[in-house]
Amino acid sequence: MLPTIAIVGRPNVGKSTLFNVLTKSRDALVAEQAGLTRDRKVGRGKVGGMPYLVIDTGGLTDASDGIATRITQQALQAIQEANKVLFVVDGRDGLTAIDEMIAQRLRSFNIPVHLVINKTEGMQSELVNIDFHRLGFSPVHTISASHQRGIEAMMETVLSDF
Ligand code: GDP
Ligand code: MG
Repeated sequence: MLPTIAIVGRPNVGKSTLFNVLTKSRDALVAEQAGLTRDRKVGRGKVGGMPYLVIDTGGLTDASDGIATRITQQALQAIQEANKVLFVVDGRDGLTAIDEMIAQRLRSFNIPVHLVINKTEGMQSELVNIDFHRLGFSPVHTISASHQRGIEAMMETVLSDF
């Protein structure tokens, strides 16, 4: 079985953009509108000759479904099917209450979680990380999905113990 990586996080942090980079496809819906990707999507990718599967999720549902209280069924199913989770947060917004809630939820799964701080292009990484470190996840990766920064180094670490 290929290493399977689930991308999880609140809406609009760049999960689908990251999925597209990791699969070099346009298969995941990337939208300005928060929470638009509702179904999970599976794609194939490769880094350093190592193939993997990646699952994009809608993360949390929209407000009418209780955004502050639960992860969607798709995200839960993706986590159950995955070997590792990339927990994506927004380096520009900083740590939010929803991030903390998702973090707490992720800790209840017996699965390795890498923290991925996205949208960090043009930011000093030492400053970006401070807030997020208290979530307690390691390793922490500082990336820009839209500018394709830090992706290869991140994936080499993610795949290193398969
Ligand atoms: P999702 O809801 O988590 O799947 O987020 P999307 O991938 O749909 O992206 C939400 C918004 O963030 C879009 O406008 C993206 O263009 C933007 N975005 C994604 N990655 C980055 C990044 O690395 N830097 C910046 N500045 N914007 C990004
Ligand atoms: Mg999305």
